[in-house]
Amino acid sequence: MPEISSNKPYRIGRSKTGLGLFATKKIKKGTKIIRYFGPMLDSKNKKHDDIDNKYLFEINNRWTIDGSVRKNIARYINHACRPNAESDVNSRKRKVVIRAIKTIQPGEEINYDYGTDYFKIFLKPIGCKCDHCEKKRAKKRAEARAEKLRLKLKAEKKAAKKALKVGRKADKSVKKAVKAAKATAASKRKTVLAGAKTGVKANPHARGTGKPTKTKSARTRPLSQLVQAQNAGRAKQA
Ligand SMILES: [Zn+2]
Repeated sequence: MPEISSNKPYRIGRSKTGLGLFATKKIKKGTKIIRYFGPMLDSKNKKHDDIDNKYLFEINNRWTIDGSVRKNIARYINHACRPNAESDVNSRKRKVVIRAIKTIQPGEEINYDYGTDYFKIFLKPIGCKCDHCEKKRAKKRAEARAEKLRLKLKAEKKAAKKALKVGRKADKSVKKAVKAAKATAASKRKTVLAGAKTGVKANPHARGTGKPTKTKSARTRPLSQLVQAQNAGRAKQA
C-alpha cells in the first residue's frame, strides 16, 4: 500500500467494497482533500485510446486522466450516491481535486459521486453498495415483508370468516331439525289425546297442568266467599 504522510487527514482502510479512503482528522466543508492525478491521455492519440481501466477520469472530450498509477491515492476513494465530497474539475488546467462538500468527521469514509456514466456501466449491473443504496434496498425489503404479512393476515381473516359462516349454517340446520322433531312429537301427542277423548271417558280433574285440583266444595262455593276465606286465612297467618 502506498505511504501516506501523517499530516494528511486521511488513511487507506477496509471498506464494504474492498479498500477505501477514511478521514483521520475533521475535514471542514469546502476543503480540498486530495488531488486525483496520473498521466494525461489524449483521445487524438491512437495508443492512448487503447488504454482501458477502472481509474480513467474523463476531463473533457479530449483529455482523460489515467488514475491507475500507484501514487494516486485518490483512486481509493469509493463512489457514493449521497457523497460527502465532490470531484472539482478544472478543464483548462486539466486538474482534478476532491473537495469536501460536507464536514467530514474522523473515521468517516470519504466518497464522491463518480457520475452517471460510471454508475450505469459499472455499478448498476452489480448493484451500488453505497450507504444510501443499501438503505434504500433494506427499506424495500422491509416494505415487501410488511406487504407479505398484510396479505397473510387478510387471508387468515377471510378463512376465519368463512369458517364462522359454515358454523352458523350448521347451527341453523340443527335448529331446523330440532323444530321438525318437536313438531312431529306434538302431532303424535295430539293423535294420542284425540284417541283418549273418543275412547275412555275423560277424567274431570285432569287439566293437564300437573297441579293438584281444589276440592269440589271449594270450587262450588261462590267466588266472594272464596276470596273472604282466603283473606281470613292470610290474616291468621300474619
Ligand atoms: Zn449508491
